[in-house]
Formats: sequence, structure tokens, C-alpha cells
Amino acid sequence: MRVVILGPPGAGKGTQAARLSEHLDIPHIATGDIFRQAASEDTDLGRRLRETMDSGELVPDEFTNELVKDRLARPDAQDGFILDGYPRNVEQAEALDEILDELGTKVSYVIKLMVRGDDIIARLAGRRVCPKCGAVYHMETHPPADDERCDNDGTALVRREDDSEETTRRRLDVYGQQTRPLYDFYRERGKLIEMDALGTTDEVFERLLGTLGR
Ligand code: ADP
Ligand code: AMP
Repeated sequence: MRVVILGPPGAGKGTQAARLSEHLDIPHIATGDIFRQAASEDTDLGRRLRETMDSGELVPDEFTNELVKDRLARPDAQDGFILDGYPRNVEQAEALDEILDELGTKVSYVIKLMVRGDDIIARLAGRRVCPKCGAVYHMETHPPADDERCDNDGTALVRREDDSEETTRRRLDVYGQQTRPLYDFYRERGKLIEMDALGTTDEVFERLLGTLGR
């Protein structure tokens, strides 16, 4: 199964994609996670990525598309994958079609996670991540067992730099201007499935499995 998960920042894409990946035993490919990893390195590329991500803008398409092309060509992605955070604009969606064409396949489902504006703000405001393993928590809805430490490795959790109020505002603008048009793109191709993403993460996951017929 080849799934694309779309939705605004904070909708729960990463949370659901991680669970689905485990459930279906196919890789969870999140461009944001890949970029965050590269941005944590003390290299020119790392610094440039950090600047872009901290500003809330998108990383250039050409670079992003190349990265996804390489990732989707790897052996573990041949039987399926879950894309989270990609595509982010129509150019990337067209690039994805080309990449999959070359691999002789296509996307099975495009899921749009729908949430209210208030929920987006609340989800982003409480989000904490483990800088070591990337696990995602929420201080109210999905807290770690031990006060502000990762359940997997005990590392102190941090707030994402781009979850600041100012960058969040810009990310939501970028989402509205560049990512929203993707819904029409996939709707016109008969691929878009709109799904309510309100409720607990368990409820949303059950709904997602039902939507995918699993
Ligand atoms: P995205 O990948 O779409 O940016 P995340 O999966 O990182 O979103 O989720 C954003 C925040 O909201 C995280 O702190 C996560 O723990 C929390 N969250 C995710 N899904 C839900 C949900 N259904 N109910 C409440 N909080 C949620
Ligand atoms: P995310 O983890 O999906 O919220 O992404 C965090 C940041 O990484 C975004 O604000 C962008 O700067 C960058 N990013 C992630 N995915 C993409 C993408 N597909 N295209 C361009 N930039 C991206």
C-alpha cells in the first residue's frame, strides 16, 4: 500500500503515519524528519536547512524531490510506504507522479486529515519531541511516562524550534498558499479521501484503518 498523508501542520500526520507504519510493516517516510536530522549536523547544508526550517518556508523543491526519489528507490519501500509531509505543493505532487511512474507504480490512497484551527494551535503548542529518536509527545494529550523525558531513551524532550508562535504563523500561511491547492489536485484525480482527525490518537487511528479497509 502506498499512502500519502496530507493535512495542516499539527494535524497528527506524523503520529498516525508512525502507527500505520508499524501496523502495515512499511516505512514511514517523513521529509520533515529527514530534514531535521540533516539540519542537526554541523555542516553548510545543515545550517542552510536550519535557517529555512526555522523561518517556516519550504526547502527548495529540486532538493526535496531528489531526496524523495532516492528514498523511494530503496529496497524497503518497494512493497509500500507512508509519505508524511510530502508532497507539499503541486510541483512536488507532479514530481511524485513522475518518480512513481519510473518505478512502475502509483499512490494507492491520499488521506487528508481534517482538524479545526483551534486544535492545530493546541496540538502544536503542546508538542514535544525527543531530539535523539524523534518520538513525538504532547504534554496534555500524549505525555511521556516520566516528566519531560523520552519513554524510549530517557532523553530530555524539547520543543521544536519551528513550533514558536511566529514560525507557526508563517508555516500556516505557507500551508494555505502552497499545500492547500494539493487537495484539488488529488480530488480531480479521484484520489483524495477526507478524514476527520478530531478525537484521541486511538480514535483517529481506528478511523484511519477503517478508511483504508484494514
Ligand atoms: P504533524 O505531523 O501533522 O505536524 P504530529 O503528529 O506531530 O502532527 O502531532 C502534533 C501534536 O499533536 C503532537 O504533540 C501529537 O502528540 C499531538 N496529537 C496528534 N494527534 C492527536 C490527537 N488525535 N489528539 C490530540 N493530540 C494529538
Ligand atoms: P514537518 O516536520 O513536516 O512539519 O516539516 C518541518 C519543515 O521541514 C517544514 O516547515 C519545511 O521547512 C521542511 N519540509 C518538510 N517537508 C518538506 C517538503 N516536502 N518540501 C519542502 N520543505 C519541507
